[in-house]
Amino acid sequence: ATAKRSPEGGLIQVESESTVYEEDGIRAKFVDRGAAVTKGPDGRLKVTKTENAYEFFTKSKVGRVGLLLVGIGGNNGTTVMATHLANKHNISWHTKNGIQQPNYIGSLVRASTIRLGVNPETGKDVHVPISEMLPMVHPNDFVIGGWDISGVELDQAMARAQVLDWDLQRQLVPHMAGIKPMPSIYYPDFIAANQADRADNLIPGDDKQAHLERIRADIRSFKETNSLDNLVVLWTANTERYAEIIPGVNDTAKNLLAAVKSSHDEVSPSTIFAIASILEGVAFINGSPQNTFVPGCIELAEKHKTFIGGDDFKSGQTKVKSVLAEFLVNAGIKPLSISSYNHLGNNDGKNLSSQRQFRSKEISKSSVVDDMVAANAVLFKPAEELTKETGEVHKKGEHPDHIVVIKHVPAVGDSKRAIDEYYSELLMGGRNVMNIFNECEDSLLATPLIFDLAILAELLTRITYRREGEAEFQPLYSVLSLLSYMLKAPLVKPGTDVVNSLSRQRNGLEMFLKACLGLENQGDLLLSSRVW
Ligand code: NAD
Repeated sequence: ATAKRSPEGGLIQVESESTVYEEDGIRAKFVDRGAAVTKGPDGRLKVTKTENAYEFFTKSKVGRVGLLLVGIGGNNGTTVMATHLANKHNISWHTKNGIQQPNYIGSLVRASTIRLGVNPETGKDVHVPISEMLPMVHPNDFVIGGWDISGVELDQAMARAQVLDWDLQRQLVPHMAGIKPMPSIYYPDFIAANQADRADNLIPGDDKQAHLERIRADIRSFKETNSLDNLVVLWTANTERYAEIIPGVNDTAKNLLAAVKSSHDEVSPSTIFAIASILEGVAFINGSPQNTFVPGCIELAEKHKTFIGGDDFKSGQTKVKSVLAEFLVNAGIKPLSISSYNHLGNNDGKNLSSQRQFRSKEISKSSVVDDMVAANAVLFKPAEELTKETGEVHKKGEHPDHIVVIKHVPAVGDSKRAIDEYYSELLMGGRNVMNIFNECEDSLLATPLIFDLAILAELLTRITYRREGEAEFQPLYSVLSLLSYMLKAPLVKPGTDVVNSLSRQRNGLEMFLKACLGLENQGDLLLSSRVW
């Protein structure tokens, strides 16, 4: 018999025929309602309502979850480890402002809420933490490990990063001393030459197939040694240069595997880690901007039905940009230029002072307003209209000028400065200049995103679905675009639109979590407050 109870400890209990709590998970029916829009010969838009019925199953047992970081000895890597340990052991510390308690501020999952519905007695909204929506791993419970080309033990690596208060570091030393990153793969051509002096912890040789097998063995043994039920591998190592996409080398899964066998120059370390994770059946997330997911890598993940997500953490400047640009365009104001300038003094900044690595970052930072611009043909003329108007062929529509500058200034350390100027056109030829000056520790922005990415990716591996009429449940599509909120240049299913808008990304995630509970999204219709 089916027990109609939410999983043990679950805060939410959905009382509905379409939501069934089973012994090992939650089964929920959901109807995806949308609109199909086509343009008729008369130029009018024909809208047809669409309805697709789904059933979701969320396995409720979270189990023991591992998190393997590539680049664990870096600023982000050590801050993730330190934050996890300080929270787990409840370590508080003295600052000049008083005693500070550990927390997960900045984490969407641990520190933000979703509006679940309305209390009929009070008429007030009821909000719940995102972490309570479905069974998710608590970041205190992760088993964390990782690789780094720098062999410095994690207590010293944390000191090198200069991110956390000294009194916290002092108390974390006993927990972090003795933890040495696993040796990693170093192909000097992919990261800045200025990184060479920290590369002292390397898997020997230059045989890429042997490197792949070694990383696969590391993943397996980490899983076995720690008796893990699930594992996420996440790249938070240096930004690499772009890999060239070469037909016959990295364009298909088969060619990519052959390119690894022949140790082809264009196979990057991050792609080796991605392939290893895919072949081991564990999720892989890329937190840096380079094109780790070459077409052959995406195809490999599809073939193995494993999960990938990327690219590049959306932590500060770009996050604000994906809010402000949307605000301007949705307010009917026309941004003419967006000029972004950064300086930072940490090792990431040092690596990005090299042109080819900067280029990867420039590409990922630049695409972030594209969807908002493309969504408003009233303000920005589409390519076809420009072509018609000018008589010249325009491949791209009208777009604000957009530049990105990054400079390395060692003195400011991890405390990054980001300055953005938004220059826009107002009513009747008016102009508006808006400047944002953002200053904070970069790694304290990225660390909660790393927890969110790992928690949500792990959850998504436990969710399966079937369409109406299908017998079998199957996993979600390999590219986890539901992680977009945390990523600057979201990887999406080929042929589908990228969503950069932060509010749309959050809505997408919220609606999905609700769908897995069989809840229709009430959005902001708030009808009861609008009718008699
Ligand atoms: P970091 O330089 O402090 O750390 C990177 C670490 O990776 C270093 O310890 C380095 O030795 C190691 N490394 C390099 N190549 C490696 C390899 N092949 N295998 C294993 N380890 C390797 O940088 P960080 O500040 O921690 O940032 C990490 C990455 O995250 C960067 O690519 C950065 O661009 C990206 N990122 C950071 C933020 C942020 O807010 N901090 C935002 C977006 C993206």
